[in-house]
Amino acid sequence: MVRRLPLVLAAVTCLVLARAGEVVSTQAPAGDSQTVWPPRLTAPAAGDVQVLPVQGSVYMIVGAGANITVHAGSEGILLVDTGLASMSDTVLAAMKTISTRPLRYIVNTTEFEDHVGGNAAIADTGEIIPFREPNYTAGPQGALDTTKASVISYYTMFHRLAGPTGRTPKIPELGWPDNTYSIDQKRLYFNNEAVVIMHRPSNTDGNSIVFFRKSDVVSVGDLIDLTSYPVIDVSAGGSLDEFVESLNRLIDIAVPAANAAGGTLIVPGHGRIADHAEVVYYRDMMTIVRDRVQDLTKKGMTLAQVKAARPTRDWDRRYGRTTGPWTTEMFVEAVYQSLKK
Ligand SMILES: [Zn+2]
Repeated sequence: MVRRLPLVLAAVTCLVLARAGEVVSTQAPAGDSQTVWPPRLTAPAAGDVQVLPVQGSVYMIVGAGANITVHAGSEGILLVDTGLASMSDTVLAAMKTISTRPLRYIVNTTEFEDHVGGNAAIADTGEIIPFREPNYTAGPQGALDTTKASVISYYTMFHRLAGPTGRTPKIPELGWPDNTYSIDQKRLYFNNEAVVIMHRPSNTDGNSIVFFRKSDVVSVGDLIDLTSYPVIDVSAGGSLDEFVESLNRLIDIAVPAANAAGGTLIVPGHGRIADHAEVVYYRDMMTIVRDRVQDLTKKGMTLAQVKAARPTRDWDRRYGRTTGPWTTEMFVEAVYQSLKK
């Protein structure tokens, strides 16, 4: 019972936030012919998205692939991730129900298609703030291109997204990050708010999380996936140890309000808005799975034996999948490979 508490509290938080959203817009989120505002608490249907106010200047678009975070204010819009390519028009329409000011920045948390698919089409509709980016040179053409939004990512993500010369890149060049960083964090002051983009490796070596300091919201990408076990792409530098370390550092940032609920809010890569208690639960799950798999491999067990021991058994009903692109078995295998490294 005690273990279920964070889930219940998070659900209550969502309800309260959804009601607070009435001040934001009286329009139904785009792509939906029905009147749906204030937002429903069920997941949007396929091809449909839902706009949720998170807290402060931060909103979330759900249903276009990965969750998209929208930070809106007087200077314009910053997006965290862009969803699937096929959803770009719907995402743009939903974004405009939050603010009609120009899109200035896109931050990508990871290079997976459901996070970056919309980069090209969506960046193309924006414009940078030229005086903010004195060294801005866009793309291989080298020309100053102010007619698109600036796309920010950790540099290793850019390399994988663009791909080696001669190979087809994962997304059109227009959507490639043109504003990469290679240190621990990149900071912006945007819409009267400190926006801190932090390198926090998890399912690859190039993940970023974005901390909106005044709104007190952290958009964390795949560092948290509340719909399944997290993807760990070992070939892209994903590591379970880094994952746990990054979750611990997120716990350092997130401050709970009374009764351990609310306070700093977390926009996960997938699933509902979370809070401190939920991050702690997720960290505990990842840590226990890691320790179990480590113990089993130390005993000399093979991958098949580790899988048979079901190291994830306590969470399978919540996160487990037997079908689809990322099953429990694939997760255990990735954990095993990551620890072997
Ligand atoms: Zn994801």
